[in-house]
Amino acid sequence: MSTEIEKADVVIVGARCAGTAAAVPLVRAGHKVIVVDKGKFPSDTLSTHVLVPNGVQELQFMGALPRILALGPSKSRYLSVHDGDLEIKERFTPFSGIDYALCIPRDQQDAVLVETAREAGAEVRERTMVDQVVWRDGRAVGVRCRSGDTEYEIHAALVVGADGRRSRIAGEVDAWTPYRASRNGRGFAFRYLDDPLGADAPDALEIFRAGSDQVLVLPSCPAGRTLVVNMTDAATIPDFRREPDAHWQRMLDRNPALNARVGAATNLSKLRSTDDLSAYYRRSSGPGWALAGDAGHFKDPVTGNGMRDALKFGRLLGEAAATTLSDPGTLDAALRDWEAARDADTISTYHWGNRESRPGTTSPLVREVLRTFVGGDRPNLSDTFNRVRPVESVISPSRLVTGLARALRAPGADRRAILRELRTELPMEISLRRHRLLDGFRSTRPTATEREGWSVGPAPKPPSRRPATEPAPVMTGGAQSHATNAAV
Ligand SMILES: Cc1cc2nc3c(=O)[nH]c(=O)nc-3n(C[C@H](O)[C@H](O)[C@H](O)COP(=O)(O)OP(=O)(O)OC[C@H]3O[C@@H](n4cnc5c(N)ncnc54)[C@H](O)[C@@H]3O)c2cc1C
Repeated sequence: MSTEIEKADVVIVGARCAGTAAAVPLVRAGHKVIVVDKGKFPSDTLSTHVLVPNGVQELQFMGALPRILALGPSKSRYLSVHDGDLEIKERFTPFSGIDYALCIPRDQQDAVLVETAREAGAEVRERTMVDQVVWRDGRAVGVRCRSGDTEYEIHAALVVGADGRRSRIAGEVDAWTPYRASRNGRGFAFRYLDDPLGADAPDALEIFRAGSDQVLVLPSCPAGRTLVVNMTDAATIPDFRREPDAHWQRMLDRNPALNARVGAATNLSKLRSTDDLSAYYRRSSGPGWALAGDAGHFKDPVTGNGMRDALKFGRLLGEAAATTLSDPGTLDAALRDWEAARDADTISTYHWGNRESRPGTTSPLVREVLRTFVGGDRPNLSDTFNRVRPVESVISPSRLVTGLARALRAPGADRRAILRELRTELPMEISLRRHRLLDGFRSTRPTATEREGWSVGPAPKPPSRRPATEPAPVMTGGAQSHATNAAV
């Protein structure tokens, strides 16, 4: 019995942010690209899906923005933060002429991404499951797929795993276990509602902080629909699941400003939640393969940057491969450079996510540092989400010193508690800078922002391998090549 083999230049597993963004530059360069996804679009996925201008520009680069805007979304030009007496409101720094954030439900957004990739010339196959990577002489040369009762292989110069956090491709290339990671202490509980302010709703992504809650009010799509997300102590997520409405109401009760903003909403969707959000870096390139998007790197969604990074580094992967596919050595070097560039670009935000995902109330020190951003609507604090500069340049040493001085001088200040907090924060400030500036590619040196106890769960179980006695298809490598690859 022989296996049917198809040829392409690149095969991409996963057809959402990273997979479609990688496909487009490759097909624009004239390559044959097959993208496979086990899902059928439109299809939802667990995400709160904010894209700030730096991410929206990726939709523009891809050619997806006109279709996205045709869905009639709200455009948010401001970021505002409410924390007790503290109010910050800033405009976003524009990118490529785009000065607004979007928040498109994933079923709608990802269907547009698939349409855009198809229109560019990629072949996108839905309801197609990839079970295995095919190897030859230690090099990934394709994937084995299943669609209904049909099994076949697609062989290509490059295999891209854009298959999300539970990436089968990561397991197949022996990159499943991250080489650095951090446990998250916050969980997400969210639902959609009709905005009670209707057309008068502010064109802003709003953050309402109170106690351990950080609640986002995100104008969504179509305009007038709003996504409300509580990023709260992960330990409380089981309570939200048990009694969603009662816990939603308690969240409103302990946050008067939030209650005034959305408490009157009546049309509420089902509550969705997660407390499984460890952040990580996996080895993301090797001979003939790359892991794009969440498959290779995930950071806490409190940063609102996962899709931006999946889109941007999907695109950059496609661009890097487009000119190097014909020579394996050159391709592999380009993939490694791409991975290094992704890490350099994401490290600050990864550490920021690790710090922000610690549960707990806003301390006097943090409040005073936040207060240094009050006044004027020029972009500043919003540059963190918007990736204008590294987070530690936005929340800079001079702001930390100013905030510290004000917190210590405040009437009734608990100076011991403030200095204790400083003793925890200072090593983080130092080690995240060391990591960004000094530690090398795929460094495993621990950093003070990273918390132990992380988990990415077990790798997706590989299907039973082709029996050794079965006639092998042309160009398979098998277990030996796989093991060789593990050392890369
Ligand atoms: C609770 C939560 C909130 C978030 N909020 C935000 C936010 O506000 N802003 C933001 O930018 N990011 C956010 N993120 C992160 C964001 O969702 C991800 O970074 C983004 O979805 C990654 O895109 P991706 O293309 O890498 O993978 P995914 O979106 O996970 O897509 C992977 C695709 O691969 C397919 N697939 C998987 N295995 C196989 C297989 N074996 N064969 C075939 N197909 C396969 C799946 O069907 C899926 O379609 C959030 C994440 C979570 C969990």
